[in-house]
Order: sequence, then structure tokens, then C-alpha cells
Amino acid sequence: MDSKPTAVTTLSNFMSNKAVSASSQELLSVVSPHDGQTIAMVPLSTAADVDKAVESAKSAFTEWSGLTLKARAGYLLTLYNTLTENSEELVDLIVREHGKNKAEARGDVSKGLETLEYAISLPQIAQGRVEYVSGGVQCQDERVPLGVVGGIVPFNFPFMVPFWTIPIAIGMGNTYVLKPSEKVPMTMTRVAELAANVLPPGVLNIVHGDRTAAQALLEHKDVQALAFVGTSEVAQHIHTHGTSLGKRVLALGGAKNHLLALKDCDVDMTAQDVVNSFTGCAGERCMAASVLLVVGEQPKLISKIVEKAQALVPGSEGTRSMGPVIDQQAIDRIEGAIRHAVDVDGAQLLLDGCSSSAFASCRKETGGFWIGPTVLQHKSWTDKAMHFEIFGPVLSILQCSSIDEALAIENANSYGNAACVYTTSGAAAEYCSRRFQAAMIGVNIGVPVPREPFSFGGINRSKFGTSDITGDGGIEFFSYRRKITTKWAPPKKDASWMS
Ligand code: NAD
Repeated sequence: MDSKPTAVTTLSNFMSNKAVSASSQELLSVVSPHDGQTIAMVPLSTAADVDKAVESAKSAFTEWSGLTLKARAGYLLTLYNTLTENSEELVDLIVREHGKNKAEARGDVSKGLETLEYAISLPQIAQGRVEYVSGGVQCQDERVPLGVVGGIVPFNFPFMVPFWTIPIAIGMGNTYVLKPSEKVPMTMTRVAELAANVLPPGVLNIVHGDRTAAQALLEHKDVQALAFVGTSEVAQHIHTHGTSLGKRVLALGGAKNHLLALKDCDVDMTAQDVVNSFTGCAGERCMAASVLLVVGEQPKLISKIVEKAQALVPGSEGTRSMGPVIDQQAIDRIEGAIRHAVDVDGAQLLLDGCSSSAFASCRKETGGFWIGPTVLQHKSWTDKAMHFEIFGPVLSILQCSSIDEALAIENANSYGNAACVYTTSGAAAEYCSRRFQAAMIGVNIGVPVPREPFSFGGINRSKFGTSDITGDGGIEFFSYRRKITTKWAPPKKDASWMS
């Protein structure tokens, strides 16, 4: 338990549109990645706090789910306008508590708002249908909300990831309890305050905390469904445990995304895109490049990647800036992986982000969690860094002799979020796209995030559960189909009802 520094706000939970103090006295420091200073205190809520939040959601459910889809979409439209008007404040909060640069924080907000925009169109896209299935018999199906649903989210997109699920879940008529990441709890607290001026009480509730609150939410008897995003180990646990309790669970896990650079790729474009992919948000993206498989000898491409990555500077402003990683634990994990690659596996350090960069000086001067872009050249695909999710600005490069060898390496990795091929050949792009073992494929695009209305989700250890998390996958996950069969015409004498 941390002691509370003076003049630092302690965050509250949010339920029935009111800030409510957690019952627990246990607090955790929210630390700025820029300088390691405490910027807020977050309560570690107990099962009793989760209970209150679920109760708030439960008491709002009947009225909220009883509204027409169009009426709920009207609330979402007002929420969209409110959040858009306040988006720069949210951007500043994201920069402050997460550390990503301003342009990336704007992307975090605008991508989250895109899912909200999609949910505003639910009346047009989530209606049921009616058909006459036999003489005088009509079948109708409609989408019905599940009840109280929960979300447990990671630190890396303080706004976007919660908004992957909230708009569609509440738009479909569910009421929601969110447990934000304890590392970045400020953004969603502010969103809840803004939403309180728009949504009826109890539709969106926030309960802060760590795994204790998450587990209580998962196990709560009145929570019908749970969407989780985070590391694969926790995702698997949440999915296994939640489904064993009879709940609907979708749990997105980690990633190890592979990019293939074929000999005919556009060198400049590829180098820039690879660098954007592995350094964007300091590599703390589940869609970030992690492994680059270079088919054949391509020294020019590799040296351009190193040159462009080396040009990045620590900071929050400007297109060449890269922010810090989230905390000291992340620094230890990333540096440990780099050391292991070099000292144990014999990889060559083409660019060292740990010691000899402006980022290292920045860490010394500020006390923040700065680490520069790092490029490793490996000799074997069995090296640990080729498999382990480093989740930092580190690129592992391996040369392969053929496209099929590169594809076999990509296919053998245990995750399955993204993969990308860089080529100027349509046939080669088609060949690789159909053979990757990942669910989100890029051709000449290293962060192939599907935009709405396409849904987001991986395979293998990147996702536990069947549905996707946004788009029509989200509609499917946050509703069940009620089928109503009706026959009004009086039956003819001796006729079967099937007639
Ligand atoms: P994390 O697994 O440590 O935490 C995620 C959430 O789970 C947090 O709210 C945390 O409080 C909670 N939690 C942690 N341990 C728990 C436990 N034992 N039981 C119940 N809840 C628990 O993840 P993180 O470090 O915050 O986020 C980074 C990870 O998220 C990376 O692996 C990244 O790839 C992944 N991620 C995946 C996607 C995707 O779409 N697949 C998107 C974003 C992030």
C-alpha cells in the first residue's frame, strides 16, 4: 500500500452518475511515465465496491433496455458530441498518464470515437428480421441485450480499448461496469464525469482497482458477459474461469506480430512503415511490429530502418517524437529481453535504445521510463526475443531464404493478431495473405487495424472466445437472438400447424 502524497487527487469510483469513494483504504500511485512522479492515487476497490457498481447497473437495466434502439442511439449521439467537444482534455490526460505522444493520444481518442460513431448507426444495422416461413406463420428474430456486462481493460489505450466495447454494449441495451487499468485510471474517470451529463444513471459505471476488483467483476452473479483485453495469461484465465461460471466471455490477449519484407518491396516506404509500426506508442500496441522477416539479402532496407529509428527523439510533440514506456517494470522486461537476445542468443545489436541514446540521457535527467528504439539482428528463429511478447520499441530482424521459410516462422508463433507483407507484387501479397496464421493482415501496412464497420480480433493466443470485439462481432457478443414464431390465422380443420 502506497502512502498518499499531499495535493494529489484520489480518484473515485463512478456509479449511478455519481463519484463514490471506494470502501477500501488501499491506494495505488498513478505514476507519470515522463518523470516517475505520482499524479493521482487510485483506490484498490473490493468485492463490496464491485457489488455496488453492479447494483447500480442492474437497477438501470430495465428502463434502459426498454428504450427503443433509436432512443438509445440518440443518447450515444449526444455522448459523441460531448466527448468530441472535450477531446483535447482527454488527449492531455492520456499523454500525462500513459506517456504516448500527442498525435498518438489523438489517435487513441479518435479511434475510440469511431466505435461510438458506429454504434450510433445501430438502429440501421442491428435490427432483427421478419419472414413468413410457411402458410400464415411468421418468424421474427430480434436482438436482445444480455443485462449487466463488464469490461476489464489494459493500460495501453486508455480511451480506445474501453470504447471498443462500451458504445456497442450500451447501444444494444446492456448496462456496463468498467474496470479501467490501475496504471491509467484518469482518462476513463473523466469520461464517466462527462457521460454523467448525458446518460441515464447506472448505464455506465466505473470501479477502479487491480486483479481483486477484476476477479470480483468476473465472478459476480449478476454480470452476464465480460469483455477482457490484456496479456494472454490473464486472458486465458478470465475466459476459462468466466465460461466455467456460465458467462459469455471474450478475452483478447497479447501478440507477436510478424512482418515479411520481400525483395521487391518499396524500400523507403517499407523502412518508414516498419519503424512507425514498432516504435508507435513506444511499441506498446498489440498491433505493433515485433519481428521483421527479410526474404533474401536486403542490407539497404535494414540500414534505412536503423537510420529512421535512430532519428526519433524523446518527447510528446512532433512527428519524430516517441514517448516513454509505462513503468519501471516495463523497462526491466524490455531491457531484460534485449540483454538476453545479445548475451545468451548471440543477436547483434544494430541499434541500442538502452544505453547509447538520447532516451537514456532523458531517463537519467527526468527519472521517467524512457527507452529508445532498439533493433536486433538474429541468427535463429528459436531465439527468445523472436517469441516472447516484449511490448516495447524493439524490432527483431531475421533473414530468411524464401517466402515459404518466412511464412513457416510466422505460422509457428503462438499468437495471431497481425501479420503484414511488404511487396509490389499482387500475386505475392495474395499468396502471403492467405497463408499467414493471424486474423488481421496488412499488405504494405504494418499496423493493419480494421476500421469500423470491420471487426477487430485475432486468433490463437491473441484471443480466447469466438466473437470479435468491435463491428458486427460486438453486436453479436453483446446480444442474444430472440426468435418469435407467430400464427394468427385460424387453423383449417385437420391441417397441421406446419401447413
Ligand atoms: P494485464 O493483463 O496486466 O492487465 C489487463 C487488465 O487485467 C488490467 O485491468 C488488470 O488490472 C487486470 N488484471 C491483471 N491481472 C489480473 C488477474 N490475474 N486477474 C484478473 N484481472 C487481472 O495487461 P496490460 O499490461 O495492462 O496490457 C498489455 C497487454 O495487453 C499486452 O499483452 C497487449 O498485447 C495486450 N493487448 C491486447 C490487445 C488485443 O487486441 N489483443 C489490445 C491491447 C492490449
